[in-house]
Amino acid sequence: MKKYLCTVCGHIYDEDAGDEKHDIAEKTAFELLPDKWTCPVCGAFKSQFRELNAPKIEIKVEHLPPSALTALKGSAICSNLAKGCEKQQKADEAAIYNSLAKELKESVPHPTSVSFSDLKKGVEHDISSLIPMAKKVAENHHDRGALRAVTWAEKVTRIHQSLLERHEKEGPALVKDKNVYLCPVCGFIFIDEHAPSKCPVCGVPDWKFEIVVA
Ligand SMILES: [Zn+2]
Ligand SMILES: [Zn+2]
Repeated sequence: MKKYLCTVCGHIYDEDAGDEKHDIAEKTAFELLPDKWTCPVCGAFKSQFRELNAPKIEIKVEHLPPSALTALKGSAICSNLAKGCEKQQKADEAAIYNSLAKELKESVPHPTSVSFSDLKKGVEHDISSLIPMAKKVAENHHDRGALRAVTWAEKVTRIHQSLLERHEKEGPALVKDKNVYLCPVCGFIFIDEHAPSKCPVCGVPDWKFEIVVA
């Protein structure tokens, strides 16, 4: 029988073993898992799993993005610089970078309305196009830090995609009697009665999780 890997947290669904947490019997084929089935570790949907040892799909990135510094990129850089200053106990410099970051961010017009399908499209575009592009750039520059950040971003974006899919199918029942936990380090979102013992993406312990909706 086959094994399937969760692309968010690395959990492996082994058809031979089934899934005790969700009362899935041993020797249950992945295809036969109910549509509502989710990863027992991170809550990702079936669609985020891929068969282990299946041939990898090569993504070719033809066009690298222009390197022009937009206001939003500048804002992200300034807020990172602020964090660096904070770590070195340079509070005044950190405050300056933070206010610069805020100013740059506010200079970008906000979208007036965002629909559910816009959100889904945005996430799909990130996964199919922007993230592979960012990965390529990081690889070309042998930048391991950037590569790790992109890998986290990909996993977290996949869980967001999964939650949007689940919300589409389950509606408000998705969060009924449950908490919505946010990992403030990587952005992972987890919906359950308790936070996971550690973040399945970045590994921080459960006490770091923030409850965003209770
Ligand atoms: Zn998972
Ligand atoms: Zn995390």
